[in-house]
Amino acid sequence: MIYPDRFDVIVIGGGHAGTEAALAAARSGCRTLLLTHNIETLGQMSCNPAIGGIGKSHLVKEIDALGGAMALATDHGGIQFRTLNSRKGPAVRATRAQADRVRYKASIRHMLENQPNLSIFSQAADDLIVEGDTARGVLTRGGVRFMADAVVLCTGTFLGGVIHIGMEHHSGGRCGDPAANALAERLREQPLRVARLKTGTPPRLDARTVDFSKLGEQPGDTPRPVMSWMGHRDMHPEQVSCFIAHTNERTHDIIRANLDRSPMYSGVIDSTGPRYCPSIEDKIHRFADKQSHQVFIEPEGLDTHELYPNGISTSLPFDTQLELVRSIEGLENAHITRPGYAIEYDFFDPRDLKHSLETKVIHNLWFAGQINGTTGYEEAAAQGLLAGLNAARRVKGLEAWWPRRDEAYIGVMVDDLIRMGTQEPYRMFTSRAEYRLLLREDNADLRLTALGRDMGLVDDDRWRAFEIRRDAIEAEQARLDQIRVQPGSAAAARLAERIGPLSREQRLSDLLRRPELGYDDIAALCEGAPQDPLVREQVQIQAKYRGYIDRQSEEIEKLRRHEATRLPADIDYSRIDGLSNEIRQKLETARPETLAEAGRIPGVTPAAVSMLLIHLKKRD
Ligand code: FAD
Repeated sequence: MIYPDRFDVIVIGGGHAGTEAALAAARSGCRTLLLTHNIETLGQMSCNPAIGGIGKSHLVKEIDALGGAMALATDHGGIQFRTLNSRKGPAVRATRAQADRVRYKASIRHMLENQPNLSIFSQAADDLIVEGDTARGVLTRGGVRFMADAVVLCTGTFLGGVIHIGMEHHSGGRCGDPAANALAERLREQPLRVARLKTGTPPRLDARTVDFSKLGEQPGDTPRPVMSWMGHRDMHPEQVSCFIAHTNERTHDIIRANLDRSPMYSGVIDSTGPRYCPSIEDKIHRFADKQSHQVFIEPEGLDTHELYPNGISTSLPFDTQLELVRSIEGLENAHITRPGYAIEYDFFDPRDLKHSLETKVIHNLWFAGQINGTTGYEEAAAQGLLAGLNAARRVKGLEAWWPRRDEAYIGVMVDDLIRMGTQEPYRMFTSRAEYRLLLREDNADLRLTALGRDMGLVDDDRWRAFEIRRDAIEAEQARLDQIRVQPGSAAAARLAERIGPLSREQRLSDLLRRPELGYDDIAALCEGAPQDPLVREQVQIQAKYRGYIDRQSEEIEKLRRHEATRLPADIDYSRIDGLSNEIRQKLETARPETLAEAGRIPGVTPAAVSMLLIHLKKRD
């Protein structure tokens, strides 16, 4: 049957990409349908119940700044919060939360069910309805045809998913859920490049069988970080600790002795897994001289005894899993509640997408999330938001939007994927962003919320809260610019211990830039400082890093101004300092005519374009 109501946008898949896509499309004012296998698994975390971490929390905060759900759900579900890299510079600081997977899911479902313009339907999508080269709708397993102007596909690890435990394997989208085989077959018929990737998950443990006295305890941070700009600590449920265990030589011997029963080492699986989240058998093989690996023992929630042993993802047979777990100190009597497994699945080469995440070959069809070769909830959610927004913009006759590399990590990720593709599951790192100092997690709202508001993604409450914070930061910066400290004054005397006597009058904003002084020292000199810790932090960061930030901004401006600059036909790339051999080769082969063309070659980074510009300047 054809469903009687027509939708503007249909999103397939209620994982992290799909939920953000559906919310973004609906927030943009489009009648949206979220079609997913099972309404009970909306927002389900297939693997580790944790959100954020280095590079990833930058994405979460950007999603949040654009009105998305992930950060707020983390504040509702987070049972341990930490700031990673807290002693390093603000560019690489990151927030990480261990989440109660049930509370997280409930929060996502609550937001979806209460989102105006959004309907949910629980059934498998078996086919796309494509007319000519344009997507028109979706056919479900039960024979319902949903018609729409735009379709966003967010099917994660489910397309042609095969689950491996030891030498056993069976079809599945993730443990306990069916694979999407009919849809996978249909997509394989399209002129899109498709390949296989794999990922894995560890066995889960029953906390009542673990001896915590033998493990190191890792409590959350005080003061406790908050994930969302709209979040606060009162939202957080009870907080708990994580723990640390260690593998040992016996664990490694058990794994080595059973490698021939590992689907990865016996040749059953030949697709590539996530380099930065390797299985324990990978670690033992690749780092053969390492005598021990850390295993983070993380609670899965407040109302369950299940634990997630982060660091021993495995697809070894179950008997080996049990033996290796029980070889670890503190886990000698551990009961496994679910075996670990690996999963292989289809992904589509993201080079067949536009920056908007629309496919190049089927109009009005967008792909987001793990289907594009990425790994991680945060990467998926960020793509989902972008794809859902752009599907909605198409329906409304508006130009596609995506952030530039110097505007957001979302821009870095999409640009990397679209220009370079990926041979292994792609995850975000701060090192992927050349303008790290501008793209901090602490200023994601200052970078993106106004843009989100213009595009209809940011509601009134978030906008008001943002305006208050932004105005408070600007007012405080202006105040510090105006107040001056005179040599010999009481304020100067208070500072003398830290920076010696003042030789001349100084503005508070200049004093704040001195490495010996922090915002609290400056705020204590006179009344009127704002109390909001986020405002105080932002004023301090912007003052301390002003020089670097200005330099990066100038570099970006310069590159933009010089995009039309011509590259001489006789340019010798081997003589340009700082270029990697790979980039040299690519430039040599493509022989671009302008800097803009050079920058569009997959793999030629903005930093490399900057080096070309410097070289041209020297030549002149
Ligand atoms: P998913 O979260 O997979 O969601 C897909 C959704 O689409 C599901 O709701 C599904 O039911 C629905 N769906 C699929 N096909 C259809 C259809 N035809 N019709 C209707 N609905 C459909 N990430 C890491 O960062 N680190 C890890 O170590 C890690 N390990 C993992 C281990 C395993 C075993 C798995 C399965 C995943 C792992 N991940 C890991 C990946 C992480 O779970 C994904 O990156 C993330 O969930 C991707 O989000 P997504 O929205 O793209 O897809």
